[in-house]
Amino acid sequence: MSIFERMICREKDEMNCLNRSIRLDRRLSKCDLTSGVFHDEDGIPYILPAVIECRQRLLTGCLKSRYLAPEGMADFNAAATKLVFGSELVDVFYAQLVTLQAPGGTGALRLAFDFYASSLQGKRLWIGTPGWSNHQQIAVAAGMNTVNFSQGLNVNEWLNELEQAQPYDAVLLQAGAQNPTGVMLEAEDWNKIAELCRRKQLLPILDNACQGGGKGVDKDAEGIRIMSLRCPELIVASSFSKNFTLYNERVGAVSIKTSVPIFANQAKEELQTIIRTNYSSPASFGAEIVAGILNDPVLYQAWLSDLAKVRKTLAERRNIVQSLLCRESPKGTTPLYGLFLQLDLSPQVIFDLREKEGIYLLNNGRLSLAALCQQNIEDVASKINKWRFGRSPTPYLKQINS
Ligand code: PLP
Repeated sequence: MSIFERMICREKDEMNCLNRSIRLDRRLSKCDLTSGVFHDEDGIPYILPAVIECRQRLLTGCLKSRYLAPEGMADFNAAATKLVFGSELVDVFYAQLVTLQAPGGTGALRLAFDFYASSLQGKRLWIGTPGWSNHQQIAVAAGMNTVNFSQGLNVNEWLNELEQAQPYDAVLLQAGAQNPTGVMLEAEDWNKIAELCRRKQLLPILDNACQGGGKGVDKDAEGIRIMSLRCPELIVASSFSKNFTLYNERVGAVSIKTSVPIFANQAKEELQTIIRTNYSSPASFGAEIVAGILNDPVLYQAWLSDLAKVRKTLAERRNIVQSLLCRESPKGTTPLYGLFLQLDLSPQVIFDLREKEGIYLLNNGRLSLAALCQQNIEDVASKINKWRFGRSPTPYLKQINS
């Protein structure tokens, strides 16, 4: 008997399965709206000009060949701390803050969860739903039990459900525009959540997946900064994939704010050991690009304006899709932000769109606005409407001209 017959096979990951189907789909008209990779108006994956400029400078400089320490590049870690917490808080909490480079946002989340589960002996993680499906999988892989709370438009409902949490439980919160809903919390909401976490002794873990992709670099970090002021301890997992268009380079960071400096030093050493026993040390090139931009005033300003243009394009695409798709006006008046739009589509419609039209959305109806472009936006909307309502919408340009 083969030892492999004993293999325990997990449920397959949705994104992996979809990516495989998309690769195998030979239709030229196929349209991958599953991932948050930003495409320009011609449908070409876009790289921010500030990133191209910085990368060019690094490539023409002298090549460094060495291992990084487990915690990664010091320049990058300092710049990431300032970006996430802002200069003022860094000055207040400098001895209570540690940041370590991580392999992307996913790697940062895994480090955060491993640290919580193994070093802090944490057992339970509260995860908001609807959310990013990988949160659940990473938490389970790190050995945690998970509990869901409903992360809808009404924050009072979140608070009611989180009242059931026990001391030392961790709560995972999305810092900026939420994936998949596009909801962004107001300062007032963050204050309420911070107060609840403090009162019930919960550890907030903030997923900072695309700082600058919602309302702006500082506004998107408002929740992290409010929580840092009001909660004694918290963890932030940052991704630099989408806000720097550095998906392949795997750049992320895990930051911990502790109540007293000694815990910060201990936490750093624990994380260094976790990293050493996983992948030893991170890769350097992407982190050099991010540090190069954040530490150069001219490139930093260029990056901010690149991001502002991306936000504007995403907002335009959101408006166009919403006006083409919604026979009724969108429910509620809460403005939505970020890379994704969640549609209320039945599993059958999502299946028909894949099979009959080659249009790929996630099973939960999430459509990536980042992956749309001027050339396909009307076509995609009319095909969605065809399977949803059995009709085509009036073209957007005709609507706004009439
Ligand atoms: N968190 C959320 C909410 C995400 O949507 C993603 C990626 O899509 C990540 C974390 C992971 O980021 P990365 O691609 O850098 O691993």
